Amino acid sequence: MTEGDYRHVYIIIEHEEGKILQVSLEMLGEARRILDDFNKKYSSNEKVVAVLLGYNVKEIPKILIEHGADAVIYADSQELRYVRNTIHTKVIAQIASDRDVAANIEPEYATQFKRPRYMFFAADSIGRHLSATVLAHMDSGLASDINKLVIGDLQITHQNKTGGKPLTYEKTLEMYRPDFSGFLWTTILCLDNKNPAIQKDYHPQACSIIPGVFEIIPSDPSRDGKIIEYTPKFDEEDLKVRIIDRKIIKSEIDFDSHKAIVSFGRGIKDSPEQNIKLIEQLAAELDAQIGISLPLSKKPFSVSQTVDSTYLIPDRVIGISGRKVAPKLYIAVGISGAMQHISGMKDSEFIIAINPDENALMKDECDIFIKGRMEDVIPVLIEEIRKQKQVVQA
Ligand SMILES: Cc1cc2nc3c(=O)[nH]c(=O)nc-3n(C[C@H](O)[C@H](O)[C@H](O)COP(=O)(O)OP(=O)(O)OC[C@H]3O[C@@H](n4cnc5c(N)ncnc54)[C@H](O)[C@@H]3O)c2cc1C
Repeated sequence: MTEGDYRHVYIIIEHEEGKILQVSLEMLGEARRILDDFNKKYSSNEKVVAVLLGYNVKEIPKILIEHGADAVIYADSQELRYVRNTIHTKVIAQIASDRDVAANIEPEYATQFKRPRYMFFAADSIGRHLSATVLAHMDSGLASDINKLVIGDLQITHQNKTGGKPLTYEKTLEMYRPDFSGFLWTTILCLDNKNPAIQKDYHPQACSIIPGVFEIIPSDPSRDGKIIEYTPKFDEEDLKVRIIDRKIIKSEIDFDSHKAIVSFGRGIKDSPEQNIKLIEQLAAELDAQIGISLPLSKKPFSVSQTVDSTYLIPDRVIGISGRKVAPKLYIAVGISGAMQHISGMKDSEFIIAINPDENALMKDECDIFIKGRMEDVIPVLIEEIRKQKQVVQA
């Protein structure tokens, strides 16, 4: 295959019964920004293409165009009302390799089109699952949980990919992900194998994108775009899996009705049980709900059964793998501030962090950083809150 076989960026849109998820609009915004630069740099005319599957979704394409899509390919069928992974995977893969659809998007590239150049999914429970199965189906690679994207021409020398020779890879998507609590950035590349002995293409270059990272482009009703209806082909075999009933289970941990949330992380490590008790007291003074960072839900510390089953549970996790919250006050106790956590609490009105490490990433996210150990800081805070309450009541 040649470089011209791959065109455009395809964004897999998620919605809940017709309501577009924020992350889908965020992906469109970022795709618009990077593709505008791309088209300028490479004098090309590639498009931001939204892919939408669902039932009764004919109103959505217009909104997607208003938020940055050049084209929307949508499949509207009762069979696509809810996500069934096998069916969605096949339909997305069909759309991504359909040349007639591509001809509709941009006739200039139609004859050669084989697949999208880039493909974005949301890094949420549905997108993570779908991205893996779609890319496996298309026999290409996937980078998950990305929060920065750059397109560039890279010189690569690699024993397997280039046979040890330096080669230029044009229009390569550099996909960055935060690792080790955000202290290290990993750059992931999905490269064709240009080694003559192996030669194999890996396109689309695809990733899942962390919600809450990229800016949404404000809606512009004057934007123009193509809306293309796609009639999916289903395998009878796959349709045997039916959704008989569907219930949205409401979380037992109610974050929404509390004005304050106190969350804790691995910083409790020196005396977990006692520190959780301290956090409990602080939360009680503020009538706050209690959240945790993801590692705490994996039960890394030995604590009493009651503390464990009350606090170290997935339902309390804040972040991309848990809940998104936006209280008036968020207190992060012993949490370093990894991107995956920040994404779940950055919309809080006022943020206080308690941490002895002033290089913690949380310092950049908070309004007040209290440098210190929670064991020392929380008792002082509690005492001060109690004093202030007495003043208010007097
Ligand atoms: C795919 C993926 C999804 C993820 N999803 C989430 C998610 O949804 N939510 C989430 O939270 N994480 C998530 N993570 C994990 C995330 O990357 C971080 O590893 C995690 O948030 C770190 O948790 P932490 O801040 O509790 O621990 P650490 O990073 O270990 O930080 C502990 C902090 O405590 C401080 N500390 C130490 N002693 C004290 C003390 N005595 N008093 C006060 N502070 C102290 C330290 O200075 C440090 O800053 C995800 C990771 C991946 C790869």
